[in-house]
Amino acid sequence: MLNIIICGAPGCGKGTQSDLIVEKYTLKHLSTGDLLREEIAKKSDLGVEAESYISKGNLVPDTMIFSILSKAIEEQTKNSKGIILDGFPRNVAQAEALETLMAKLNKETTILLDLQVDNQELITRLLKRGETSGRCDDNLETIKKRLEVYESKTAPVSDYYRNKNKYAAINGMGTIDEIFGRISSVIDSKR
Ligand code: AMP
Repeated sequence: MLNIIICGAPGCGKGTQSDLIVEKYTLKHLSTGDLLREEIAKKSDLGVEAESYISKGNLVPDTMIFSILSKAIEEQTKNSKGIILDGFPRNVAQAEALETLMAKLNKETTILLDLQVDNQELITRLLKRGETSGRCDDNLETIKKRLEVYESKTAPVSDYYRNKNKYAAINGMGTIDEIFGRISSVIDSKR
């Protein structure tokens, strides 16, 4: 079973690469950002609350993330070849909670893939995406805040998995195919 975490700063290409990984390795895709945006579109109570954090570039509270994700992880790891977690865990507390849940389900995280892209390139990509995405957080002010939050809260998650020998840095610069080639060789070495 392959249970992969794909991590990296906003705009690093997590979503694009997740789609390719899902197709090649037949994994189930769980994106916390997508789940939250679905709640926002539905205008559910959770969505309305989540939007107030997301539009400012902040992380939404851990309890909210867990309320939408833990059941999904339990369901998607049943009778599947594995999952890809995209956008989760975003801080060390979430990583610890994930590992507790995986242990309870008798599953294991295989590897965290850390997609590394220069900050200037990230800003260029996100501003370009903002022209068509309609996302409330793809504007310069929020992008800067999201990059700061990434450095302070999410980057330490890499150390957490590095200490468990479950970490791979991936050069996220280049064409989509080049990056996917790098990712595939890491995943293939874990099968
Ligand atoms: P993403 O689509 O992964 O870039 O997520 C968009 C926004 O949703 C983030 O900037 C956060 O505000 C929120 N978000 C997504 N995943 C998480 C998470 N695991 N923990 C907290 N907030 C999250």
